[in-house]
Formats: sequence, C-alpha cells, structure tokens
Amino acid sequence: MAEKTLNPFEIVQLQVKKACDELGENEAVRKILSVPEKVMEVNIPVEMDNGTTRIFTGYRVQHNTSAGPTKGGIRFHPKVNKDEVKALATWMTFKCRVMDLPYGGAKGGIIVEPKELSIRELERLARGYAKSIAQIIGERVDIPAPDVNTNGQVMSWMVDEYSLLRGVGQTLPAVFTGKPVEFDGCLGRTEATGYGVAIIAREASKLKDLEMSGVRFAVQGFGNVGSHTAMYAEEMGAKVVAISDIDACLINEKGLDVKALMKYMKENRTISGYPKADEINRDEIFKQECDIFAPCALENAITTRNVEQIKADIIVEGANGPTTPEAENELLKRGVLIVPDILANAGGVTVSYFEWVQNLHNYYWSFEEVQEKQERKMVAAFKSVVEMMKAKNVDMRKAAYMIAIERLATPMRLRGWFK
Ligand code: GLU
Repeated sequence: MAEKTLNPFEIVQLQVKKACDELGENEAVRKILSVPEKVMEVNIPVEMDNGTTRIFTGYRVQHNTSAGPTKGGIRFHPKVNKDEVKALATWMTFKCRVMDLPYGGAKGGIIVEPKELSIRELERLARGYAKSIAQIIGERVDIPAPDVNTNGQVMSWMVDEYSLLRGVGQTLPAVFTGKPVEFDGCLGRTEATGYGVAIIAREASKLKDLEMSGVRFAVQGFGNVGSHTAMYAEEMGAKVVAISDIDACLINEKGLDVKALMKYMKENRTISGYPKADEINRDEIFKQECDIFAPCALENAITTRNVEQIKADIIVEGANGPTTPEAENELLKRGVLIVPDILANAGGVTVSYFEWVQNLHNYYWSFEEVQEKQERKMVAAFKSVVEMMKAKNVDMRKAAYMIAIERLATPMRLRGWFK
C-alpha cells in the first residue's frame, strides 16, 4: 500500500495523539500540545558580496512554555518550511521533558543552501536572523542552539548581534548554547548528540541481549551527529560496517576506521573517495547487514520505500523524525526495537542545558564532568522509558511520549492552564 505522505507536523501530532489515548489524557492537554504557542516568520534582507540584496525567509517556533523557557536549534537548509519547524519545535518539547530538563521546545530555521554563501554572507544572514527574532528570545525566554548546518561560529555571531542589540554593554552568552568552548561554550557539547546516541545504543543492545563490543553498526549521515555517533560506537567496541552521507555509502565488513574517515571528511567535505572502504550508492545504506542502524540525517529517511530492506534489530534515531509512522508499524511487527529520537538524540540538548547552567553561574566544568553527567542523565531517562514500556506494554516511542506528556500535564494544571 502506498504511504499516505504525512508532513512532519502531522506525524508529531499523530504521535502525541497515540500517547494521549494510551494515557486517557484530558482533552485540554491534547489541544494545548497539538499546536505551538508562537510561530514567527521573518524575511531577512542580506547584502550579498556582489552588492545585490537577497531576502531569506526564516522561522522561529515556540511550542510550549509550561516547564520553563523554550529551547531548540536553528537549521539552515533549502528544504526548511513552516510545518517542518513546527514539528521540530514540538519534538523538542517532548525531548526536553523526557530528559527532565526545565524547558519547553522551540526550533528555528532559515530557507537557505549555506554551501552557496560566502563566509561573510553567512555571517550577515546569521546576524540578520538574530536581529529578527531578538524580541522573542532571551536567556529566560527562548534559548536557540545549533542544528543542521549551523555550528559554534554561527552561535557566536548571533550572541554578538544579540548582545549589541540589547545595548546594555554586556555579553549575554546564555541566550544561545552550542557556542565554541573558547567563547563561553561547554566542553563536550560538540560531541554530545553523537555520544548520547552511542550510549543509548549500548543500553538498547542490552535489552536485545547484545553486547556493544562486536555489534555491527551502520550510520546514515556523517555530519556532527552521525560522525560522533560512529566514533563513540567504535570506542565502545562496535564494528562500524557502513556509513553514508549525501554523496555515497562506504562499507567495510571488517569495520571502518571512523577517526580516519572524520579526518578525510574534514579535508574533503565528503566521504566519497575515501580509500579504505568499498563505495556504493548512498541509498544502499538501508540494505546493509547490521545489528544496529542509526539514521542520523534528516526526517523521513525510513519509509515504506526502504523499510523492507532494513536488517537491523535495533534502530536508534540520531536524527529528528527519521522514521515514518507506516514504516515504524512494519518494523514493530518484525520485532525491531526503535529507540525514538526524543530519547536517542537528546544528548545535544542535555549538554546545552549544562552549558546554559554554566553560563548563568559563570563557573565551568571539565570534559569528564560533562560526559559523566550526560551519561547519568541519559541512562536514567532510558531506564524510565523502558519501565513505562514494560508496565504498559507499549512500544518505546509511545512510552517516551507518555512520560513526557505526564511531565507536561502536571505543570500546566498547576499553572491553571486547564481545570
Ligand atoms: N538541535 C539539537 C536538537 O535537535 C539541539 C538543541 C539544543 O541544544 O537546544 O536536539
């Protein structure tokens, strides 16, 4: 049967509905969670290097403020659209609550192919966006961070612009996280999402009576999340047998040397051409023999088009929204364990939270301290989701949503948002 194409926002609404049904949740809670609190659309004029002006459209969406300020990254991508940003903001709410972070979710995005911009054009765009959304962000209001195609440099420009705009003569680093370590960032933040995906993969293997050492691991995507996922999985003893990016898929039954590939990627901006592996078409990644598959690219990667090909026993969602609901049903029928994005990739926002706490206190922790705290938090969240899964006999995604929804409904009720 052909898949009914739901957009990511429809998908997240379906996920919330399923969990609310299971919990027998109040109508008001369903209604509040089904829409974002605030959606801002901005048109940013940017002076290009050749003297012309281009207008870039962007968004900032804040989904829910019941548990604290909102939090979530900013992506630069040609396929960004309002529904996608709304979905990503909603996912952030559930991600923060399942990790027990004192935040609601938000997300931002700009419709742009950043590869086509010079570094100065990119800086002007980042500053323009920070200026456009300045009225609705703040260290106690909404705290952006990096996402697809943004990084510490982009955050630094935004902090600078925001601080200048506020005009109080102070640098205000706590408004953005994911900053470089040398500019009030947090050690371990760059690695955090991938490190978390690997920790969660290790915990999930135990559920399937597998050992991380020797497990065959495949990763789709070799950006910040995919590369660090592969690197830590390898460090934990997994054999990384396949990695893909936008250009190619590399396979090596004996295991790829992830650190060498990261070096190659840094120099060549692609994994294609890497000598110590066989190179095949990027979509072949779905067909690879492996125990764990980590989709770490974009939404809607695993669909009814490729779900038949997947051989893994465990899927750990490094990306946000990589599995469509229909593909998920197929996988669940086959007994595949799917660790949902809101748990599996929550390491990034968890360490962002640590960064924010350190910025507010102006007191900084060591790399080991950060990773140790991250690991503790992720293992605890994983355990509570597994408990819910077993107690209610539901799949892992539903269990994670159920925990998050309970943690949202209580403050909303206490605040008098519904009776
Ligand atoms: N963009 C990341 C995510 O999707 C991190 C967000 C953050 O650190 O606030 O979870």
